[in-house]
Amino acid sequence: MEYPVVNKEECTGCGVCVEVCPMAAIELIDGKAQINNEKCRNCGLCLGECPVGAIKD
Ligand code: SF4
Ligand code: SF4
Repeated sequence: MEYPVVNKEECTGCGVCVEVCPMAAIELIDGKAQINNEKCRNCGLCLGECPVGAIKD
């Protein structure tokens, strides 16, 4: 399975993706979103919710 990837250059650390992820797979580390692939179920929600489009397939 392929997982979403956060572009750390673009991530503003707003935390929206952390809030929307139903699997609690995203946390902020040093102000940047980090996706835990062990928890991610590839639902795609975070991709659409990131206000700056920093999460890609
Ligand atoms: S929603 Fe986007 S900008 Fe905000 S923390 Fe997540 S990846 Fe970063
Ligand atoms: S694809 Fe879904 S489960 Fe995976 S990190 Fe994004 S919101 Fe969470």
